[in-house]
Amino acid sequence: MAETHWDAIVVGAGLSGMTASLELARRGCKVLLVERLARAGGRCGAFELEGHRFTVGCNDFGARIVTDLARLGVHVAFEPSTNVVDFGDETHRLPPRPRGALRLLRHAPSVLRMVMRVRNGEKRPLGTLFRDHERDGMGFRMISLLAYALGTPPQYLRADLLRADFSGELGYGHEKMVVPIGGPQVLTDAMLARLRSTGVTLRLGTGVQAVKKHARGFEVDTSSGSEHARVVLSTVPASACRGRAGLKVCQVLFAVPRTTPFVDARTLIVSPPRAEEWMAALDAGHWPETFGFHLFRDHEAGDTRAFTGFLLAPRGQDTLDASRRARVLDSVKSRIDAHVPGFSSALRFERLLDPSEYEAHHGVSASLAHEIPIADEDALPIEEHEPGLFRMGNATEPPGDHANAAMLSGLWAAERALRHLRG
Ligand SMILES: Cc1cc2nc3c(=O)[nH]c(=O)nc-3n(C[C@H](O)[C@H](O)[C@H](O)COP(=O)(O)OP(=O)(O)OC[C@H]3O[C@@H](n4cnc5c(N)ncnc54)[C@H](O)[C@@H]3O)c2cc1C
Repeated sequence: MAETHWDAIVVGAGLSGMTASLELARRGCKVLLVERLARAGGRCGAFELEGHRFTVGCNDFGARIVTDLARLGVHVAFEPSTNVVDFGDETHRLPPRPRGALRLLRHAPSVLRMVMRVRNGEKRPLGTLFRDHERDGMGFRMISLLAYALGTPPQYLRADLLRADFSGELGYGHEKMVVPIGGPQVLTDAMLARLRSTGVTLRLGTGVQAVKKHARGFEVDTSSGSEHARVVLSTVPASACRGRAGLKVCQVLFAVPRTTPFVDARTLIVSPPRAEEWMAALDAGHWPETFGFHLFRDHEAGDTRAFTGFLLAPRGQDTLDASRRARVLDSVKSRIDAHVPGFSSALRFERLLDPSEYEAHHGVSASLAHEIPIADEDALPIEEHEPGLFRMGNATEPPGDHANAAMLSGLWAAERALRHLRG
C-alpha cells in the first residue's frame, strides 16, 4: 500500500490555492501545492510584452484582503483605489472629493432607492426590480458598474449576489477598494515568499490529471507522477456551468511617456448609460455601438508608463479580425482622449489581446465571472461528495466572483480540511 506522504494536496496556485495552502501550513499541515502553469498567481500577477510590464487580471480588491493577508503572515502595502467614472453625460471621481460629493448629492434619492430595492430584492434579478425609466438614474448606473466588473448584464445580476458583496458577514470591504502598491505581482510574490517560509512545497508546471480515492486518503495523478494525501483541495472549476458562462474580456495595453498626463485617479472607467442594453448586446454576441471599458496606470520603466485596460467581448466572439480590432481600439482611444487630450497621439505601444489571445498568453480563463446564474442556485458547496475532497475558488461558496471571494473560499476550504484531518 502506498504511503500517504502529504497531509494536503492543493490544486492550483491562484489566490484561492495559495490562501488555502498558507492557512493549512500555518496550522501545522504538510502541504503540496501543484500548479500546471510555469508561474503562480493564476489571474493575479504581471507579465511582460515587448519590454513593457502589464497586469494579468485582478487589480482592485475589497479592503478585507488586508486582514486576510495579515492573518496568513503576508506583508503587502495597499493604497486606496481611486477612479474617474465617465457615465456618458456626467463624470464623477470615486471616491469623491468634497466638491464632487456635493455634485453627487443630487443623486441621493436615486441611490437610496437602489439600495432599498437591492436590500429587499431577495434572489430576484435587477431587471425585475427596476422599471425602465428608473434605469437612467444614478442608482441603477452605479450597480451597472458592478455588473460590468462581474461580466454580467445588470438586469441579470441577482440582488442577493450584489448584497453578498457588501454584506457585513462576509466583510469583503467592497465599499472601500484598495490596490497593492507596486501592482498585483507584489501580492503574488509576497504570498510565494510566505509559502516558502512556511514550508509549503510548490510544484510549478505540473498539471493534475485525476484525483482518486486511495486507502485513507487520495491518489493524485499529476503530469510528473502520483502523489498521496489525506485531503485534496482543488480550484479546478466544475466542468459544466449551471447557468451561462460570464462574459470574457479583451485586454488593451498601452505605453506612453511617463510625463503624459492622465485623469486625476488611478483608473478611468467609461460606463455609457443604459448598460443593460449594451451589455445585453454583448451577451447576445453582438458589438453594441457604445460599450464600457476601464484603464488603469500600471508599471513604470525608464521614461515610459504602461496602462492596462479591459473591456467585455461579445459572447462567442473570442477572436477579432483586424478591422474589428482597429475599430475597438479607436473607440477606446477616442474616449480616453476626451478626458486626456493627446493621450493617443503620445502612445509608444498599443495592443489588444482578444479573449483567445488572452487565454493563450496567460493560460487562465478570460471570463470575469464563472457563471451567470439563470435560476436561484447557490454557489457550489466546498465539500465534494467524497469526504476529504474539497473545491474552492469562484465557482464555490462563499458567493462572489472576485478575488476576495476566491481568498475567503480558500480559507473556508482549509478550515473544513483541517476539521476532516483532525476528526
Ligand atoms: C481580466 C480579469 C480582471 C479581473 N479583475 C478583478 C479585480 O480587479 N478584482 C477582483 O476582485 N477580481 C478580479 N478578477 C477576478 C479574479 O482575478 C479572480 O476572482 C481570482 O483571481 C480567482 O482566483 P482563483 O485562485 O480562484 O483562480 P485562478 O486565478 O484562475 O487560479 C486557478 C489556478 O489553478 C490552476 N489550475 C487549473 N487547473 C489545474 C490543474 N488541472 N492542475 C494544476 N493547476 C491547475 C490554473 O493554472 C491557475 O493558476 C478579474 C478576472 C479577470 C479575468
